[in-house]
Amino acid sequence: MPKVALTTLGCKVNQYETQKILESFEARGFEIVPFDSPADVYVINTCSVTQSAEAKSRQTVRRAARQNPNAIVVMTGCYAQFTLRRGERVAEAHLVVPNPDKLHTVDRLLENFPELAEQLRTDALTSSPSKIFPLGHPSGSEEKSRPTPGSMDDEPIPNAEPRPLKRTRAVLKIQDGCNVFCSFCSIPYTRPVMRSLPYQEVLAEAQALVAHGFREIVLTGVLIGDYGEHSGSGGPDLPTLCAMLSEIEGLERIRISSIEPTQVSDALIEQLATNPKMCPHLHIPLQSGDSRVLRTMNRPYDQAFYLDLCRRLRERIPHLAISTDIMVGFPGEDEEAFENTCRVVETVEFCRAHLFRYSPRPGTPAEAMAEQVPEHVKAERAQRLQAVCRAVQLRYATRFIGQTEYVRVETRSKLSGLLTGTSDHYLQVEFTGSPTLVGQLVPVRIQSVSPEGILGECVTR
Ligand code: SF4
Repeated sequence: MPKVALTTLGCKVNQYETQKILESFEARGFEIVPFDSPADVYVINTCSVTQSAEAKSRQTVRRAARQNPNAIVVMTGCYAQFTLRRGERVAEAHLVVPNPDKLHTVDRLLENFPELAEQLRTDALTSSPSKIFPLGHPSGSEEKSRPTPGSMDDEPIPNAEPRPLKRTRAVLKIQDGCNVFCSFCSIPYTRPVMRSLPYQEVLAEAQALVAHGFREIVLTGVLIGDYGEHSGSGGPDLPTLCAMLSEIEGLERIRISSIEPTQVSDALIEQLATNPKMCPHLHIPLQSGDSRVLRTMNRPYDQAFYLDLCRRLRERIPHLAISTDIMVGFPGEDEEAFENTCRVVETVEFCRAHLFRYSPRPGTPAEAMAEQVPEHVKAERAQRLQAVCRAVQLRYATRFIGQTEYVRVETRSKLSGLLTGTSDHYLQVEFTGSPTLVGQLVPVRIQSVSPEGILGECVTR
């Protein structure tokens, strides 16, 4: 059997799609191996959201080529799409699959390398059926999330590292495409078609995930609040879909990965407030707390709108966890605008904020804007804002001292022996417990909060 190794850079949408690509390779009879193992084919699902993500995408392609100089290296994803548009080449990539075509990567590979198709045919004749069609299932975990501008989930892009495929929490992509055209973002150019997964398929996938042992599902999409809008079938919107999903027996938690401020509807707030399966957490990209900068970013809201939304949310759900993405050093951001962003961070009291410095994306309107902020100013502001965010994050977490939080246990630290997991309110909690609890939802009383971390103790149910 030919061996294939896959890896992902970037957002949860990319992670999810890599799983889908993996399944299609499995279905054709490829053996899936870890990315750092010798393989016949390497597939890199790339990201282009920052210059750093692009550089890491290129490095990963080169790493694959070094690992086995005889392997076929395939590149797809947002960065791959950009190289096609700009007529650039990454010398080590033998095949570049356009982003809209990525779920057919295996077909494009076999069309371009017929000798592989021939090998698969020969292997199929000599293998047992169970080997030809191994069972695979879409799975994903939040691990650490990250922000893509706007829809970027919850983790800073500059750290976008290739991700392993093993997950503890399932990610389910229900929507694709963006038509907002924020002036800094390249996503609408690479994912222009608005699509929603029909709700029947969402429910079927969720049921299958639960049958495979997943108890928590993270709903993801590029513009997830748009779910149902472009389905053309009069299907449910996002809040209704959440209500339908919560009917699935065995599914304990539903989390929404990232939602634009203008798409948090009253109906969604009611779902969060009344549906016990919904995690009390929303990731709402702020990007800037200054109305003038938001306008030049082409973000469809201002500071007052964002603050009012957070106020209404916390009025209805008092300790709601709100995390965010903030861009530092967007063109035209002066000291006053930056201070406005700091003030919004203080006021909202985010549970987590992912900061990244603005870097121009080729072909976007912001690239050509005057008043680009010098790198040293961006660095200095990022440092200051980081300090504000850390203080606010601690303040938010101290609300929970003495309270019991449900924690999804993700790992056991080899160093400290403590279990680590994410609570309903998106706190990273450490506590003593048996490794058999990994993957489970465990009640944990929060004992202390400090810059070193949040400690708790497991409460007997
Ligand atoms: S909403 Fe803005 S930041 Fe988010 S994907 Fe669309 S254009 Fe990009």
